[in-house]
Amino acid sequence: MKASAFNYARATSVSDALELLRTHGDRAKVLSGGQSLMPAMNLRLVAPELIVDIGGLAELRGVAVTDECVRIGALTRHADLARSAEIAVRAPLLSEAVSHVAHPAIRNRGTLGGSLAQADPASELPACMVALDATIVIRGQAGQRRVAAVDFFTGIYETALSPDELLVAVELPVANKNCSHFFCEFARRLGDYAIVGLAAQAIVEAGGFADLRLAYFAVGNRPVLATAAAKLVGTAPTPAVLADACITLSGELDPHNDQQASSSMRRHLAKVLLVRCVRTLLDRPDLDAGGSV
Ligand code: FAD
Repeated sequence: MKASAFNYARATSVSDALELLRTHGDRAKVLSGGQSLMPAMNLRLVAPELIVDIGGLAELRGVAVTDECVRIGALTRHADLARSAEIAVRAPLLSEAVSHVAHPAIRNRGTLGGSLAQADPASELPACMVALDATIVIRGQAGQRRVAAVDFFTGIYETALSPDELLVAVELPVANKNCSHFFCEFARRLGDYAIVGLAAQAIVEAGGFADLRLAYFAVGNRPVLATAAAKLVGTAPTPAVLADACITLSGELDPHNDQQASSSMRRHLAKVLLVRCVRTLLDRPDLDAGGSV
């Protein structure tokens, strides 16, 4: 199929893009890499009257490191993230996760901002933002506002963005030097959307967790920051503790059924990922959940 007829404007600046969005409201759509928007338009799932192409706004692209944070521009492509030496050192979770996002041709065009604004619950990068405790930087006519990643995703394909706002950047807090990460997803093939996935960041001290952020994807209507992590922080990890965390996890997820996996299958896989994550981060291949997984 082909997209419905639409008008096209190439924004010359962020202010220009915001003015176009203000004028046209929800009849306009921002175009970044086009890897989600164009297929949706071709399938006529969306039919905007105006496309506001922000792809030429160089100020929205790139990685900058300050004393306080790592700032990544919204137009930074998946392939740029994968190649970035700064990201590899300061946010290796992202470097690892991005290789699971689609395929090279899509990663060459798709952008971080586009992926976060799209807010597919099975996407890797939104969950990474939650695990890394990122801040989403949004610009609108009224100025700039910042939203914690955990509050940014509000539902399936829904975010805190208004139709007249632009996601301009994300800011990652400078990671503690003892930080480690875990990323794993179950998918039918490398590059497919996840059936269930987990992005995690931790601080490991004296063989246990001083901090642990577990961000699951494809098990609810948005990335889930699992409270089960609290069961594992500040305590000696034992099979009983891990089993208790698995029970808590199971209760807080709301996985859907589809042709790829049932809800109970997803719940089971989420627990498998929790056990793998804990074993990997603590370097304890012997640790299990006492048969509860
Ligand atoms: P666009 O398609 O340009 O925009 C997506 C949406 O976000 C649109 O609604 C647009 O209006 C809005 N938007 C874009 N930028 C902004 C902004 N700065 N401010 C406000 N709104 C904005 N993704 C995964 O995460 N995992 C996968 O495994 C995966 N597999 C894929 C497989 C295929 C075959 C395809 C076609 C895509 C796949 N994707 C996957 C999606 C891909 O990662 C997209 O690149 C990404 O979701 C959107 O980025 P984009 O820059 O292309 O955004």
